[in-house]
Amino acid sequence: MSKNDLITRLFRPEVLALSAYHVADAAGFIKLDAMENPYSWSDDVKQQWLAALKDCELNRYPDPEAQQLNATIKRVNGIADEFEVLLGNGSDEIIQLLLMALPQTANVLSTTPSFVMYKQISDCLGLDYHGVPLLADSFDLDVSAMLAVINEHQPSVIFLAYPNNPTGNLFSEAAIVEIINAAHGLVVIDEAYAPFADASFMNRLGQYSNLLVMRTVSKLGLAGLRLGYMAGSPAIIEQLHKIRLPYNINILTQVSANFALTHHEIFDQQTQAICSDRALVLAQLNALEGITAYPSAANFILFRTPQGRATEIFLSLKQQGVLIKNLSPQAGLLSDCLRVTIGKPEENAAFLTAVQKSLES
Ligand SMILES: *Cc1c(COP(=O)(O)O)cnc(C)c1O
Repeated sequence: MSKNDLITRLFRPEVLALSAYHVADAAGFIKLDAMENPYSWSDDVKQQWLAALKDCELNRYPDPEAQQLNATIKRVNGIADEFEVLLGNGSDEIIQLLLMALPQTANVLSTTPSFVMYKQISDCLGLDYHGVPLLADSFDLDVSAMLAVINEHQPSVIFLAYPNNPTGNLFSEAAIVEIINAAHGLVVIDEAYAPFADASFMNRLGQYSNLLVMRTVSKLGLAGLRLGYMAGSPAIIEQLHKIRLPYNINILTQVSANFALTHHEIFDQQTQAICSDRALVLAQLNALEGITAYPSAANFILFRTPQGRATEIFLSLKQQGVLIKNLSPQAGLLSDCLRVTIGKPEENAAFLTAVQKSLES
């Protein structure tokens, strides 16, 4: 039997049909492609963090419930005691856990464009995924189209990224409420960019029994730790605890995240700087001939290049040492679009100079 026969016999067709999630090699680039916080910590804060790590017992398994970190997360996010919080190895793992718990016949609904892992994980598990296009002019929810899919397919889970990645906008609140009310299953509001937005559904958990609110520390400034969390009713979270691996949050992450979140003034200044630089980059991009940049409530900006030139501009930037994200291959509403993460002022300046140069060539 050839090796190929073995592979096709062994693995599910859904798996064979997938392509791996590709992450560009960023070595040597000004890295503005992955919504990371560009700032590190002062030596003083680093010393305090290392002191906290010093007593970690690496020879022992971590607390399987990560109780201390869980309590800190509840406190800093204002999550009431009546709700339960599930921790994941990144919010990616939480999406995976939730979808793994569904029956094979389940449907999943989100928007197009949206965060790619909703579809990637649904495809991997063989679940039917529906991506309803956003409105072309505003990138807001097409409520009637969403309601039509809800009524026809009764999705078990609806994912709404708030603010949305990669468009950067907050969907209209009234539209989201309409969808939560119409949903037959769960609605996950994915607030990965909460540190940069002035809006949240966290304080509405008590109003809707099918609402879950998910966040991550990645975009805040701790992408290397891999920690996400989701709050909701204990009856739902309890089911997910059953399928989560017992020690999914390692001890270094538990201690480091607990340290960082109890010193969150470290991040307040950084996220404020990122938000004010976001306004500058938006204005400067829009001042460039042929570029349309869209307002953002996140730490990145989506912008449209002159027709047919996105890939050429993306490659020109790369040649000039600046790595951003080319979304144009995803087509649809993202044709001709690129996405840049807000970096340090000097990185933003280098990016803007590179765009200008690429437009002139
Ligand atoms: C980045 C991102 C995530 C993934 O977060 P991790 O915790 O790093 O896995 C989830 N949702 C959205 C919308 C994102 O943009």
